[in-house]
Amino acid sequence: MFPQIGFLGLGKMGSGMAARLVEAGHNVIVWNRTRAKCDPLHELGATVATVPREIPARTEIIISMLYDDYSVEEVFNGPDGLLSVPVEGRLFIEMSTLRPEKAKAIARSCGEQGAEFIDVPVSGTVGPARSGKLMALVGGSESNLERARPILEDMTRRIVHAGPVGSGSLLKLVLNLPLAVYWQSLAEAIAMGHAGGLEIETMLNVINDSGGGLSALSHKISMIVENSENVAFDMKTMIKDSQNILAKGAEYDIPMPAMSVALDSYNADHSAGLGDADAVAIVRFLLESVGSSLLED
Ligand code: NAP
Repeated sequence: MFPQIGFLGLGKMGSGMAARLVEAGHNVIVWNRTRAKCDPLHELGATVATVPREIPARTEIIISMLYDDYSVEEVFNGPDGLLSVPVEGRLFIEMSTLRPEKAKAIARSCGEQGAEFIDVPVSGTVGPARSGKLMALVGGSESNLERARPILEDMTRRIVHAGPVGSGSLLKLVLNLPLAVYWQSLAEAIAMGHAGGLEIETMLNVINDSGGGLSALSHKISMIVENSENVAFDMKTMIKDSQNILAKGAEYDIPMPAMSVALDSYNADHSAGLGDADAVAIVRFLLESVGSSLLED
């Protein structure tokens, strides 16, 4: 039997990643704020903790896949948090998409208590999370990465060592910027073509088969065409990441007009009630706002 691994955060991504670890044979103890989301993992064979602080007492390696800086702060430093109990010698693998400064601050708190920390946000969405095909972007020491590697290998297709703590989080913001701007540009292109009489599906398939395609697009075409309610990466998460990207740009004095316009659009979609929709709803939203006749079908 493998030594026990802790896993906190069973949202859209974490539930698949934790299930993948259980199925790979790991002995996993899970925690989620909303307890009901632990049930499917329990059925697969995971143990369930009632509060985060139970986990360090039982495991040496603790993975978290939470939402944002605030949720990570709660789970690490809250009254029942991971760092409210002795954690010497533990390795924390923090996989949420955070501000690099937050990753560094949590790493410092861990270090003060004799624990190790790496930030490991991921590229890839719900499907790759479930099938172990994510790309891990690691910030931290070589020795901590080597300690984490056997577990990361069960969740990923590729592991990239970006640099010291915080670098994984910065690399994640770097790769999210072109993606965030891409969906905005796609929405504009589809609205223009449709206004001139082109079919949405034809345009998407042609873009996908051209230099304007993107691996992320191929998985989203049917969602856009069918106006599907499936959600992999939601609008509010796109807004969170876009805000963090713009804050980094401001810190480094880098103008980011494209990112700024894209964030305005995501905010408008959110205000229209699409916060929980997949971020590609930006395409339909622009079509609707310019009064597409096809959408009335
Ligand atoms: P999600 O479905 O919204 O899940 C968020 C998780 O964080 C849930 O387990 C939620 O618990 C927990 N959480 C939120 N606020 C909390 C708080 N204050 N205290 C404790 N727990 C809290 O998000 P997701 O799509 O899985 O994304 C997770 C992370 O991965 C995010 O940082 C996101 O940016 C990143 N990411 C997402 C994707 C994607 O395609 N979805 C891809 C790459 C990276 P509850 O269940 O109780 O709400």
